[in-house]
Amino acid sequence: MSIEAPLFAFERSGFLDLEGMSARSTPAKVSAPELLVLNDGLAGELGLDVDLLRSPAGVEALTGHEVPDGAEPAAQAYAGHQFGSYSPRLGDGRAVLLGELRDADGVPRDLHLKGSGRTPFARGGDGLAAVGPMLREYVMGEAMHALGIPTTRALAVVATGDQVARDTMLPGAVLARVASSHLRVGSFQYAASLGDPVVLRGLADHAIARHHPAAVEADHRYLALFESVVTTQASLVARWMLVGFVHGVLNTDNVTISGETIDFGPCAFMEAFDPATVFSSIDHAGRYAYGNQPQITQWNLARLAEAMLPLFDPDTDRAVAMATEVLETFEVRMRAEWAVGMRAKLGLPVPADDSTVDDATLADDAPADTALVEDLLGLMRAQRVEFTSCFRALSSVVRGDPDPARALFAEPDAFDAWSARWLDALSRVGRPLDATADAMDRVNPVYVARNHLVEEALAAATAGDLDPVTRLVDVLSRPFDERPGLERYAEPAPADFGRYVTFCGT
Ligand code: AMP
Ligand code: MG
Repeated sequence: MSIEAPLFAFERSGFLDLEGMSARSTPAKVSAPELLVLNDGLAGELGLDVDLLRSPAGVEALTGHEVPDGAEPAAQAYAGHQFGSYSPRLGDGRAVLLGELRDADGVPRDLHLKGSGRTPFARGGDGLAAVGPMLREYVMGEAMHALGIPTTRALAVVATGDQVARDTMLPGAVLARVASSHLRVGSFQYAASLGDPVVLRGLADHAIARHHPAAVEADHRYLALFESVVTTQASLVARWMLVGFVHGVLNTDNVTISGETIDFGPCAFMEAFDPATVFSSIDHAGRYAYGNQPQITQWNLARLAEAMLPLFDPDTDRAVAMATEVLETFEVRMRAEWAVGMRAKLGLPVPADDSTVDDATLADDAPADTALVEDLLGLMRAQRVEFTSCFRALSSVVRGDPDPARALFAEPDAFDAWSARWLDALSRVGRPLDATADAMDRVNPVYVARNHLVEEALAAATAGDLDPVTRLVDVLSRPFDERPGLERYAEPAPADFGRYVTFCGT
């Protein structure tokens, strides 16, 4: 008799004990599961046995066809403001939490399946997902991770062998998603709506234990939790802005308590720099445009504050005042992180990276440096310059070759004038120029998940050829290292690619 190790060392999630916040839900059976991708790096972080995961039993477990030992699959309840209007009951309509795992650092992570069949929250939906959109989650999650941006990630995508009805019939798939948790702003909205203080408090205690344990030491732990969420979300949105990422559907159910990026349906990387950039087919008013993301995230955090008010103080006026004070720090935090990031993108000294520059020098130059940032963005916007290519090309200017950057501007004279001011500022910093250029290349990616490349790879995968997805993820896994032979991954979309449109609920 052989004793097989279990696939996953699940720990029971405390979330399941929160009355009314989840519903047991058995994943659907699938016809012919076939592993499309397994994320070996992430599996390693989770201490999982990749050979076991690739075995027939492992692949069946990764779709939920066979519920793995120790799992208690449950759909999580949440509410959400979708494009500003409140839906009191959304929840995982096509997803289940399988359980919690501890990663190699001892940190709990959720393992969750998406596209695994209808749940009690499915409403009119079929509970299913197609190969293209689930591989999109894999590609975008890995791209964000490699850029150093907190994100949920795909452990695996498994084709089900079943067809999914969308505009056309498409091959179905299940995504095995790993997140530091799936708690959302909408989870708190739902808990608050239940009107049971024990549940709301239990959810907050669970979130503290899971994400912000230091809050336990604070004078006011729930306010400290709110403050941590404001801080991590301010940081997250600043980082998105610095790489030109447009999330596309920042409903409160898609905003995590952990500060990780979640739900990659309509997201995309901006091409020409324009704060009004929108890709989503349904975002007619531009609510979730690139430039609106900070403001809309703060709006979403105000909805979190409303849900948490009873935890702050029994006196509502006092609770509102406490929440407002914290919420008002959002913009300052976001702008500070963005400003430091922008300075780094331009090779200007930042507090942490250059101990040879004292804080007084930094402060003296700050207004001029802010003008450099604003003026460059103004030129890029006026001349519709591609965001990623432009920032990356700036290091060549520092190395003495302005041509790649100049070539991006239809009217390069204005760029030349800006560049002269900028090089002058760099010369006053006194750091060797080659070190500055190298530092810039460590923060300005050469490879991002460009829209035409993502579409090309997903179309090929839908037709059965996974090579383009595998290659793309490999390229995106080292976004800052320019490598010979990968030139096409660094180029903007061909002119005939046209306006890029993305979709929710795919
Ligand atoms: P999303 O746009 O992916 O954030 O999903 C918004 C809500 O719709 C969530 O409650 C999802 O669970 C639900 N949903 C999206 N697609 C489906 C589907 N095919 N079947 C059931 N529920 C779905
Ligand atoms: Mg969602």
